[in-house]
Formats: sequence, C-alpha cells, structure tokens
Amino acid sequence: MSEQTVTPMMAQYLSIREANPGALLFYRMGDFYEMFFDDAVAAAAALDIALTKRGMHLGEEIPMCGVPVHAAEGYLLTLIRKGFRVAIAEQLEDPAEAKKRGSKSVVKRDVVRLVTPGTLTEESLLEARRHNFLAAWAEVRDEGALAWVDISTGDFRVMPCPLTRLGPELARLSPREVLVSDTKEADCAEIVSDLRASMTPLARSSFDSQGAEKRLCDLFAVGSLEAFGTFTRAEVSAMGAIVDYLDLTQRGKLPLLRRPVREDAGRLMQIDAATRRNLELTQALSGGREGSLLTTIDRTVTAGGGRLLERRISAPSRDLDQIHARHASISFLLEQGRFAQDLRADLRRCPDMDRALSRLAMDRGGPRDMAAIRNGLGQALTLAERLENSEAPALLRDAASALVGHDDLVALLDAALVAEPPLLARDGGFIAPGYDDELDQTRQLRDEGRSVVARMQAQYSDEAGIPSLKIKHNNVLGYFIEVTATHADKMLAPPLNESFIHRQTTANQVRFTTVALSELETRILNAWNHALEIEKRLYDSLKGAILSHSGPIGEASRALAEIDLATAFADLAAGEDWVEPMVDNSRAFAIEGGRHPVVEASLKRAGEPFIANDCGLTSGETPAIWLLTGPNMAGKSTFLRQNAIIALLAQAGSFVPARRAHIGLVSQLFSRVGAADDLARGRSTFMVEMVETAAILNQADDRALVILDEIGRGTATYDGLSIAWAVMEHLHGVNRCRALFATHYHEMTALSAKLHGVENATVTVKEWEGEVIFLHEVRKGAADRSYGVQVARLAGLPDSVVARARVVLNALEQGEREGGAKKQMMIDDLPLFSAAAPPPAPAKGPSPVEEQLRALHPDEMTPREAMDALYALRTLL
Ligand code: ADP
Repeated sequence: MSEQTVTPMMAQYLSIREANPGALLFYRMGDFYEMFFDDAVAAAAALDIALTKRGMHLGEEIPMCGVPVHAAEGYLLTLIRKGFRVAIAEQLEDPAEAKKRGSKSVVKRDVVRLVTPGTLTEESLLEARRHNFLAAWAEVRDEGALAWVDISTGDFRVMPCPLTRLGPELARLSPREVLVSDTKEADCAEIVSDLRASMTPLARSSFDSQGAEKRLCDLFAVGSLEAFGTFTRAEVSAMGAIVDYLDLTQRGKLPLLRRPVREDAGRLMQIDAATRRNLELTQALSGGREGSLLTTIDRTVTAGGGRLLERRISAPSRDLDQIHARHASISFLLEQGRFAQDLRADLRRCPDMDRALSRLAMDRGGPRDMAAIRNGLGQALTLAERLENSEAPALLRDAASALVGHDDLVALLDAALVAEPPLLARDGGFIAPGYDDELDQTRQLRDEGRSVVARMQAQYSDEAGIPSLKIKHNNVLGYFIEVTATHADKMLAPPLNESFIHRQTTANQVRFTTVALSELETRILNAWNHALEIEKRLYDSLKGAILSHSGPIGEASRALAEIDLATAFADLAAGEDWVEPMVDNSRAFAIEGGRHPVVEASLKRAGEPFIANDCGLTSGETPAIWLLTGPNMAGKSTFLRQNAIIALLAQAGSFVPARRAHIGLVSQLFSRVGAADDLARGRSTFMVEMVETAAILNQADDRALVILDEIGRGTATYDGLSIAWAVMEHLHGVNRCRALFATHYHEMTALSAKLHGVENATVTVKEWEGEVIFLHEVRKGAADRSYGVQVARLAGLPDSVVARARVVLNALEQGEREGGAKKQMMIDDLPLFSAAAPPPAPAKGPSPVEEQLRALHPDEMTPREAMDALYALRTLL
C-alpha cells in the first residue's frame, strides 16, 4: 500500500472528525477509545497518558493515544474538568457484519453523544448533592431571558433576565455550561468566565424563537406553549436553544425534561455574586465547599434533599406564606422528636430517583436504576403512611399525597427485579425468577443443559428398549444419539425410524438424532443468548412502564426532598438550639443572641464558646443603620455576616441561630468587603470595591439589607473616609434600607449625632496588663481606640517593631490633638532611633526599655528629641 493512500478506516475517522468540530473525538476500536492526530496530542497531555503512533497518513506518522472503554468515565471527567468537550463515536455494528461485506469493509461508526460540562448524567461524573445546570441566555428585541435545565433531574426553568441581571442570576445557579448566540458572545464572555462556567456559542438559528416554539411543542407534545403559561419571545428562544443543544449533544436521545416552569424573580430574595462569595453561601472563600454555610448546616440524608437545600440557600423566598409554611413544618417536627427521627430513618433508605429516572430515559441507565425507583417508591409509601397518621401541617401533608399512588409500578418492579440487580443490563441476571415463564425455562436450559440431555437419554433408551443408548456430543455433529451396530436394525425399522433420524454409521456405532434433540441442541446453544434477549425485552418493557409513570415519580421525588429538608432543618434546630424566626411585612430587624453558624461550628471544634450578640436595625418603623467600630479581630465581620445569614436562613425556610429573631421581609441582600484582592480580574482592588459599592447604592430598595465591611479602606485615609462617609449618607437618605456598616474610621461615629437612625456600636475589648483581650461583645457606643498595635503584638510582630509602632502612634495622636500643621511637624520630628533597634532579646535578657535606653545617644540629641524619647520610653512600661 502506498504511503499516500488513506486507509478506509482513516477515511471514516476523518469524515467523523470533520463532522464534529470543537470536540475531542473518542473513536471506538474494540475495547478502547482511540484518539488520533491533534486530539491525541492534546488528550495525552491532559490525561498524562502515553502518546504513541499508528501507521502513516499522507506520509506522516499518526500520533495516537487511547483509553480503555471500561475506565473511560474517569478520563472523561478529567477532560471535561479541563474544559474539553468529547464526541464519542461508537461501533454501530458487530465487526462480523462488516467482515461479511468484504475484507476491506470498515465497521460502521458514528458519534452517539457529545459530552459537555452541562450535559452529564453519569453518576461518577456528577456530584450527588449538587445540581448540574445547563443554562441559555437569549435576547430578542432588547428583552432578555435565561433558561436552565438539570438534565440529570429534568428540572427545566426560565425567567426574564436582562443582560444586567445575567451575572447575579448565573451566580445563583452556578451552571456548568452557558449557551449564548454567537452574536452575543462578546457581551457574555466575562460574566460567564467570572463564574468559571464554560460558554458555548451557538449559531443564531438555535435561538430562533419560531423554530424554538415548534421544538418545544413537539417535545412536550402540546399544540401551543400556552399550555404551560405565557412566555416572552426571549424566554421561548432561550428554552428552544437548550432543547436544540440537547438534541445536538444527545443525538436524538432527549432527556426527560419536566414541563418548563417560569420562575418569578420577584418572589426570591435577590443576592448578587459578590454577596454570595462574601457570605460563603455554597463555597468558602478558599474555594472549596468545606467551611461554606451550605456544608455547615446540611443535615439532609438524601441527595435530592441536599440539592433542594442548595437551591433554597441560593434563592431564599420572599413569599410570606411559603416561608411560614416551611417554618410550621419544622415546628411540628420538633414537637414530635421521635417521629422526625423515624422519618429520617426511612429517608436514609431512599435512593436518588431523579437521576435514576433521567439515566433510564436517556438509555444510559441499567437495572440498578430500576431498583432505585422500586426502592424509592416503596420507601415513599412507608413515609406516606407515617405522615398520614399524623397531625402534620399542610406542607408535609401535601408532600405525603405525592408519595402514594405508585402501587402498580412498585408491584411490577418488585415482581420483576431481583433484590440487588447488577449495574448493567448487558450481562443479564436482573429479572427475578418466576416473573417470566419463557425466561425461567431458558435459564433452566442454560444452567441445566446437561441434566436435560440426561433425562432425554433415559427417555429414549426406555422408548427404544436399548439400555446402552447414549446421547453424545461432538463438534461435527453436535448432539446425537448413539447405539451399537447390533441395535441398528431395530432403530432403522418402524416404529422407531419414525422418530429417530439416521445421521451416520461408523464401524461399531450408528448415530441418530430426533427433532426434539436438535431442537434441544439449538435451545441449549442459544439459551445464553436467548436468556439475554428475553431479559433485554423485559428490560425495555419495564423501562417503558417506568417512563410512562415519570411525572408522578418526579413528584414523589420532589416530595421526598421537601420532607428530607424539613426534617434536616428540624434536626439542626434541635441540635444547635436554633429558634423559629418571626418573619412579617414590617421593616423590623431585631435579633437577640444571634450567632454565626460557621464561625460557631469552628470554635466549637476548638472547644471555645461563641459570644451571642443582639442587633436592632429599626427605630420605630424606620430602617436604621448601625455603624460598627472596634479593633481588628474583635469580631466585626463575623457580626455583620451573622445578621445577613440569619435573615437569609429565615427566608430560606429554616430556623435561625439566635435566641429570638423578628425580621421584616428582606427583598435584597448585599454584602461587601473593602479592598478584596481581585487581581485575577485585572482590576485594581479599589476599583472593584467602588464598582461593587456603586451597585448597591444604585439598586438597594427600602427592603434591602446591606452589610458593608470596611468600605473605603482601599485608598488613602482621607479619600477612604470621605467615600465611606458619603456612602453612609446615601444609604441613610436615599436607599433608606437597613444596614450594618463596619469601619475603622472613628471619625464617622460623629455621623450618629447628625443622622437620625444611625447608631454607633462597637465590639468590646479589654486591656489587661498591656494586652488586648477580645470580648466579642457588641454594645452600643463608639470604640475608644483601635488597639491596632496591641493586635499586631498578638500577631507576633517583633517586639522592637511593636515598640516603634507605639512611638509613632503616640506622636500621631498627639499631633492630631494639636492640629494639622503641628501634626506634620510631629511626623517630621519623629525619632528615628528605633530603625537601628537590636533584634528581640531572649526571655531573660534586657527589657525593651533597657534596650531602647542603650540605643540612645544623648550627646547627639536635640532637647526635643530627648523629650520624645522619654515619651516613647514611657509607653514601653
Ligand atoms: P474583625 O472583622 O473585627 O477583624 P472577625 O469578625 O474577623 O474580626 O473575627 C475574628 C475572629 O474572632 C474570628 O475568626 C472568630 O474566631 C472570633 N470571633 C468573632 N466573633 C466572635 C464571637 N461572637 N464569639 C467568639 N469568637 C468570635
């Protein structure tokens, strides 16, 4: 073969490759997925596997690498995490078929699926307790909309969303993949990459709203989308793009999508991306989930409950009825302690039906997923009985009603499936004995082939009256009946020759077969395959039965998650001493004995107590602002955040970590921290701080709750102070919202005298033997000083530096008291001696005072310097 010829296989590879741009191609060859050319180079590097070569293409060696099919999921996960998309080309026929067409014929192959971050369904590729959202943002005539789906559970939602809201909404959902029209790519790129989601631009036609409407109607088999409510053109376009993309990536095997639900942003507490980050709602600042609010308070026992908790924490409600109903079910469960424990024990046995169902729908499931549905629905029934016999409030009773009505399906699955079926349908063995006669016989034949033959031999030897008659097997004849030549005549004459058919005569033996024996033989030989085929058929019919019941299964699954979350919140409230908050339409914000759940949990591990604190952000009916001062490390940030978190938890439907809480509905939650380092985004930290602060001042309404931590510290003192001052005045006069404002600009405490509703509060510290002791108690009033130097000392700054800092501080403070010009002079006059201070002394060496004294050179000092030095020495005592 000339080096310039392209082999038929390579020709096939190249044509599939060309049809699937933008993705690595996993090309199935026997037990491996192989990659060639650039794909191989990229994948070998990303997966850290060997890059080899295979044959020549147009005179060049072909780079190649491969992964075994049985281990492919792990490799896929790595590739997806590293931002690749993978097209999987399977063999679509048995290689034997291809051979029949001729020696040069290639096995038919094509891409059966495009694996992308937003379209995963495999258990091993997903986090059980997290949603895996695929989102699409569309804009039609200046009207924006966002649609999203979790194909592993079928949840499908949509809402109006102008470009300006895209960042916050995506931050709430944290989708893995976002679809946008290629014409909008530039507008969305930064927003999407900030969230570390991957962006997939699609041709404009995917977003065409007319085509979209048709796709959606076809998918849900409705004549008009109005069946599900009224949607804007942009919403239809965004939903249509999702369906189009699923069709493309899943190659026609559309996942089970639930009917689209229009989400009303007005019913949710608005929380932007920066606030989510600051409050560490679902992710800690360090990046992981550990240390986030979500992980700290998660007591759910099912994966579905875990996902629901994540949704609630990410999007607390603004609907009072809903909030009250959720609180009521927690109260009820708390009153019935034992009962809640029983429910939790039942829930623990509930598998993840949502994901099992979606895998079955996409033909990626197996018998174990069917067993998950069986077990889940069975448990649901137990739970329903418990709840029906109780005095449970509406929310739990409603949930209970979705848990019943699955008896037929459960009975069917119970009868059909073995107790613990294998993962894959491929090898059979999952249908229970006694469910299907044909299967039972086939299996018997398969397993007992020999004894069936032995029984037949006995029967024939009886019929023929020849005790020495045998049934034997060889590769040429297969099964045959053999008698010695002496019996040949008898066998060849009537009546025996009617049933025994002559096959062969050898020197000593004559061989026969019968219709029954050759049938038996075929059956034995085929029994294996046959049993598998029957199981496959039964599998399909069970799958059909499950999928036709998918709506109610979804409802049951949702109800289980709801019950799980309620019992988890009750467990948390009981274990951590949380109380039911009073949430109403007022502007109240009165927290008694509030705590920060995450800080409290970490202190608890260290065996230290958390100091509970009060907060009241209303004076009369008007919203008020607290201006919080106090040294670093005193607990200001903790106090600020705990109040935001208490409001959030209350509206997420949970009890709260406090002794008492009265909260007037919060519409928006804002949290900002001054000068957070954000170099990754290439903006100056101060710029980021100001952009974020501007967003609050422009958006916060009179129901917002705002916490600002050290705003303005990212710039020079007077700039910072003036900005902080003006921001505070704006919050008070224009936004008129409830706010907590922590600052180290003590000058600002003067504002409380000027602005009604602004109050000073401080986190107390005590000074004892020159050391500062943090009491972590918040009380009304302003901090007297900042104790920065003491804190620095606690932090382990060398003694000489601490001493020097004290000198500078004293001089500055003195200058402050004596006026501006004087201050400059003080600074100019600051003694310079300490720059040459000796290293810190060993424990028993000279004291800092002695050291400093030794460093003085009175001959070289002006009287003024001598005076200052004396002052400095005094501070060291
Ligand atoms: P600041 O914002 O004033 O610098 P932080 O809020 O970061 O201080 O708190 C510093 C540390 O003090 C926290 O990590 C925590 O360990 C402890 N702390 C804060 N508040 C409390 C409290 N109410 N009770 C006990 N320890 C607290």
